[in-house]
Amino acid sequence: MLFGTYSPALVISSVIVAVFASYTALDMAGRISTATARAEPWWLGGGATAMGIGIWSMHFVGMLAFSLPIATGYDTGITLLSLVIAVALSAFALWIVCQPTLPVSRLFGGAVVMGAGVASMHYTGMAAMRMTPAIHYDSFMFAASVAIAIAASGAALWIAFRLRGEGGHTRKLRMGAALVMGAAIVGMHYTGMLAAEFPVGSICRAARDGASSLWLAPVIIVGTLAVLAIALITSILDLRLEARTSVLATSLANANRELSHLALHDSLTQLPNRVLLEDRLDRAIGAAERQGAMFAVMFLDLDGFKAVNDAYGHRIGDILLREVAQRLGKAVRGEDTVARFGGDEFVVIAPVLEAADAADVAQQILRAVETPVTAGGHELRVSCSIGIAMYPGDGQDQHELLSNADAAMYHAKASGRARFSYFETSMQQDVHDQLQLLHDLRSAIASGQLILHYQPKFRAPRGPVIGAEALVRWQHPTLGLIPPGDFIPLAEKTGLIVPIGEWVLDQACRQMKAWLDAGNAGWTIAVNLSSLQFGHAGLVDTVSDTLARHQLAPQSLTLEITESTAMRDVEASLATLDKLNSMGVKISIDDFGTGYSSLLYLKRLPATELKIDRGFVRDLPQDPEDAAIVSAIVALGRTLNLTIVAEGVETQQQQEFLTTLGCNSFQGYLLGRPMSAENFLEAAAQASELTS
Ligand code: C2E
Ligand code: CA
Ligand code: CA
Repeated sequence: MLFGTYSPALVISSVIVAVFASYTALDMAGRISTATARAEPWWLGGGATAMGIGIWSMHFVGMLAFSLPIATGYDTGITLLSLVIAVALSAFALWIVCQPTLPVSRLFGGAVVMGAGVASMHYTGMAAMRMTPAIHYDSFMFAASVAIAIAASGAALWIAFRLRGEGGHTRKLRMGAALVMGAAIVGMHYTGMLAAEFPVGSICRAARDGASSLWLAPVIIVGTLAVLAIALITSILDLRLEARTSVLATSLANANRELSHLALHDSLTQLPNRVLLEDRLDRAIGAAERQGAMFAVMFLDLDGFKAVNDAYGHRIGDILLREVAQRLGKAVRGEDTVARFGGDEFVVIAPVLEAADAADVAQQILRAVETPVTAGGHELRVSCSIGIAMYPGDGQDQHELLSNADAAMYHAKASGRARFSYFETSMQQDVHDQLQLLHDLRSAIASGQLILHYQPKFRAPRGPVIGAEALVRWQHPTLGLIPPGDFIPLAEKTGLIVPIGEWVLDQACRQMKAWLDAGNAGWTIAVNLSSLQFGHAGLVDTVSDTLARHQLAPQSLTLEITESTAMRDVEASLATLDKLNSMGVKISIDDFGTGYSSLLYLKRLPATELKIDRGFVRDLPQDPEDAAIVSAIVALGRTLNLTIVAEGVETQQQQEFLTTLGCNSFQGYLLGRPMSAENFLEAAAQASELTS
C-alpha cells in the first residue's frame, strides 16, 4: 500500500476555504430570503455558484494537499464534473433553506440528498486521478465519510435556515456557524481520504496529461477566495443599498402619510376635515346606490359655544371643541364617520336601515355633548342642535344633503336647541325665506321700514316711569310687523346691524330729547347694542356725535350690552366701556345671569345697572332656585353699587316678590308693553296717575 503525506499549508488553506465558503453560503441564504421576487433567482444562481466553487475548491485543495510517492495528476473532465456536482448541490441546499418553512421531513430528505451529493462530488474528484488499479476504499471509513456528509449537511441546512434574515446578532452567529459548517465539510473530506487505500504499484493515469499540482493549488485557492469575496462584497453592498432604499422608501411613505393626514384632517380635533368629508359622502352615496341602502347625514352645531369662547377665550374654547370631538367619536357607532365641518359645526355620516335609526345615533350624540366639560378649572355646559337629512330621500348629491341637513339643524335650533330635527321640504323654504328676508333687510332702513317701540321702565315698587327701552321692529311691506328676534341675528351675521344700530340710536336720542323737552325730566332712554356694534371701532364717535346732534345730555342715555358681549375680549370691552362712561353715558348689563361672568371682572366694569334676565323672573315666586339666583344677583348688585332691574315682570306676585328681594326697577308686560312713541306718553301719564 502506498502511504500519502499531507502538506500542512494546503490543509490549512483548505480549512480556510471551507469556513469562508460556509460563511458566504449562509450569507447568500440570508440574502435570498429577504430579496425581492425578481432578484431571487439571481441570488440563488450566484450564491449556488460561489458556494459550489467554495466547497469544491476546499475538496480539491484538500486533494492537492495529499501527495503519494508516485507522480499524480487530475483528469480535467472528471474534475470539472465534480465541480458541477458541487454547484448543483449548493443550488439545492440554498433552495431548501429559502423555503418559508423547514419541516423535519424536508430537513432529513435535504440532508440525505445533499450529503450524497457532497460524497459523490468527493469520490468523483478522487476518480479524476484515474488510478490503476482502482483505489480501494475501506468500507467502514467510506460509510463514516458519507454519514458525516449527511450529518454535516443536515446541520448546515438547519443552521442556514435559522440564520436567515439580517440583524446585528445574525452576523456573529453566522461566523460561529460557518466555523462549524467548515469543520464538518473538512471532516467529511479527510475521513473520505482516510478511506482510500492505494495498492503498491498503482499508477496515476492522469499524471501525464493532467494539470500539474504545483501551480494548481495557489491558483485555485486564490481564485476561489476571489469568487467568494466578490459574492460576499456584492451581497453586503446590495444589502446596504437595499437598506438605504428601504429607509428612504419608509420615510417617504411616512411623509406622504403625514401630509395626506394633514391635508385631510382638522388639526385641532384630528377629525376628518371638509375635504375628506366630501370624499366620504361621495363614497357613501356610491355604496348606498349600489346596495340600494340608505344613510343619514347629520349636521351638528353647538349651542352656547360662542358664549364660552367670549367668556374664557379661544384656548378654553379649543379645549371644549377637542373634548366634544372626542365624545362624538365615542358616541357614534363604528361604521359612522364624524367630521369637523368648521368652527363649532360637525357632520356625521351614519349608514342606517331605516330613517328612524338615525334618531338613536342623534340621541347618543345629544347625551354625550350635554355632559359638562371641565376646562381650565371651569365647568362648561353646552348642548348641540342636530339636523338630519336622509339619502336618497332628502338629496341626491353631497351639496344637497349637507344644505338640507343644515336647514334641519337651523330648525332644531329655532325650536329650542339641544334637539334634533329631520329635514322636511318646508325647511328648504325657510332657508330660501331667510335669503329673501336678508335681501329685503338691506333696503329696510332706506325705505323707512324700521320703527322703534318703547317699553316703559318703572321705579320699584309701583312707579313712576323713569324712562324707556327702545326696541326695534321691522314693518315689512308683505310680512307685517317682524320682531327683532327674527332679523337682528341675520343683521348681526351680515354686518347690517351696524347701520341699523346707528339708525336706532339716532331715533331713540331724537325721541328722548323730544320727551325731555315736553317736561319729562329725569327720564333715560335705553338702547341695545349688539356685540358686533359694541366691537365696532366707530362706536364711541357715533355715540358722541349722535348725542351732540340732538343736544341730549349723555346722562339721559343708557347703553345695554348683554353679559356675554361684555365678557368677550375683556380688555377691549373695558377700554370701550371706560370711554363711554367717562363721556357720561350709563352702561347696563343686559340678560344678566345667562353668561359666564367673573366677579373680579364685573368689579372693574364701569356699569351702572344689572338687568336680571327674564328667564329667572318667569317662574317666580314659585321656583325656589330662580328665587335664590335673583336674590344672589341683587346682593351682588348691592355690593358693586349697581341698580338692579328686573325685566319680564308679568304678574303682581312677581312684582311684589321682586320688590321684597330688593330690585330697584321693573320692566314688563304687567306695567307696560313695548309701544309706539305716540302711545307712550299717554300710557306713562296713566301709570303716573295710578301711582300717585
Ligand atoms: P331684550 O333687550 O332683553 O329686550 C327685552 C325683550 O323682552 C323685548 O323683546 C320685550 O318686548 C320683551 N319683554 C318685555 N317685557 C316682557 C314681559 O313681561 N314678558 C315677556 N315674555 N317679554 C317681555 P323684543 O322687543 O322682541 O326684543 C328682543 C331682543 O331683541 C331684545 O332683548 C334685544 O336683545 C334685541 N333688540 C331689540 N331691539 C334692538 C335694537 O335696537 N338693537 C339691538 N342690537 N338689539 C335689539
Ligand atoms: Ca335690552
Ligand atoms: Ca334683556
